[in-house]
Amino acid sequence: MYNIVIGCYGQETNTFNPMLTTLQAFEWAGDILQKKDCSDLRSYNQAYFEILQQRKDVKIIPTVAAWAEPWGPCQRSAHEHIKDEILRICREAGRVDGVLLSLHGAMVLEDDDDAEGDLFEALRQLLGQEVPIHAVLDLHANITEKMLRNASVLINYHTYPHIDGMDRAKESARILLDTLDGKIKPVMKARKLPLLPEFIPTAWPPVKNFQERCVALEKQPEVISATIAYGFFCADIVESGACVIVITDQNPEKAQLFADQLGCEMWSERKALLRNFADLDTSIDDVLAHPDRSPCVFADCWDNPGGGAPGDGTHILRRLLERKVKGAVIAYLRSPETVAQAEQAGVGASIEVSLGGKFFPKICGAPVKATAWVKSISNGICDAPGIPERGFRRIGKLAALLIDGLTVIVSSGFAQTWTPEGIIACGIDPKNCSIIVVKSSVHFRHAFEPLAAKVYDIEVPGKSEQKIANLTFRKCRRPIFPLDEFPDDHPAWLSSK
Ligand SMILES: [Zn+2]
Repeated sequence: MYNIVIGCYGQETNTFNPMLTTLQAFEWAGDILQKKDCSDLRSYNQAYFEILQQRKDVKIIPTVAAWAEPWGPCQRSAHEHIKDEILRICREAGRVDGVLLSLHGAMVLEDDDDAEGDLFEALRQLLGQEVPIHAVLDLHANITEKMLRNASVLINYHTYPHIDGMDRAKESARILLDTLDGKIKPVMKARKLPLLPEFIPTAWPPVKNFQERCVALEKQPEVISATIAYGFFCADIVESGACVIVITDQNPEKAQLFADQLGCEMWSERKALLRNFADLDTSIDDVLAHPDRSPCVFADCWDNPGGGAPGDGTHILRRLLERKVKGAVIAYLRSPETVAQAEQAGVGASIEVSLGGKFFPKICGAPVKATAWVKSISNGICDAPGIPERGFRRIGKLAALLIDGLTVIVSSGFAQTWTPEGIIACGIDPKNCSIIVVKSSVHFRHAFEPLAAKVYDIEVPGKSEQKIANLTFRKCRRPIFPLDEFPDDHPAWLSSK
């Protein structure tokens, strides 16, 4: 009988947001610490259940399913609480044969830049050198030496938007079973690069080519997994940046060779890993000039709650009102007070609202004051059906408010706009909108691109920074591209720590 510990724990930390992430932000933690089967949640633990339950000789030992939305550094006490629970369950299990975790990989504590490394190290100390510790990580993980030293198998998502997390978790579980059955002996090698890429979807070159190379490498004999962590540059830590990870069956030379080769390819394309964005007014002009082209999507990339921003930025809302754009919808602007106000007044009522600008008004825009007509109210528990996501993204209650021919959907929770479901739940057909403003930088593309006539990645100030050049880094190791210049023929990693 194999005793296999599973768990899902993570947050992507934006260190440029000074507000700490508390235990409450891992909103499900309290529940999940009690719920041992995790059966009512679409967390990655379900992927582990699906694979492991097929085996009669496996005992599944669930630990936690705690995931917080991206925000500032995590409180030490919250991390200790969740880590302790994982360790306690491991200890009480008596014998642990393997560990399967879904983590983010870019989680920073208030007093430690490497939360995942800390967890792996604690598990390694408790379980010893021989027990396989596997983790699935986000494509934006910042892979550290401590993580590589203490984990056995690290696999990053292949896709951005992240739609393959469940697949990677199942893959990780299968690799663990094959290891325990003695069919394979995974060996992991990595190549870290002095490179901070910006946020580029995996459907776009050159990232598309890199991902295709990973899939091709995985078809090579002895190769078990080949994935890339592009890093999360909004976490200003010494070790942020890109890393290629290759896992082979007992062939360390081949694993290192392939990681190095792919690393070199990425390095040679480094200048293509920077993004372009659209000016707000120029984009509005373009939409107004082409009324037949709808709906258009405006991505409020800088106010993405999926990147550590509050989601209550008002720059785009204010400008659309000033320019009297009709038929647009904003999905969603976080304002729990306004949702409560609309609920109390009821559908059909007119209310005086002050929208947004609660967290960082000087950066994300001051509140917009207006008279709003309450169009509809929804319970909002509809975010992202069909997307095998972590299952923790609940946008909370929603209220659709009509202001001068423009609809603002206010939410009570932090909610990156993954899909149009919340818009539909408010009784609005996205196809009939002139502009759909989404609070997302890339993930929206999975569900919105198929219905959008045109997508504009809008640049207005916010807390989920998209351009590395706009940030002042204190900790990130130097030199690193694009913060520092490198000669065109500079080798990929001579200066990498
Ligand atoms: Zn990510």
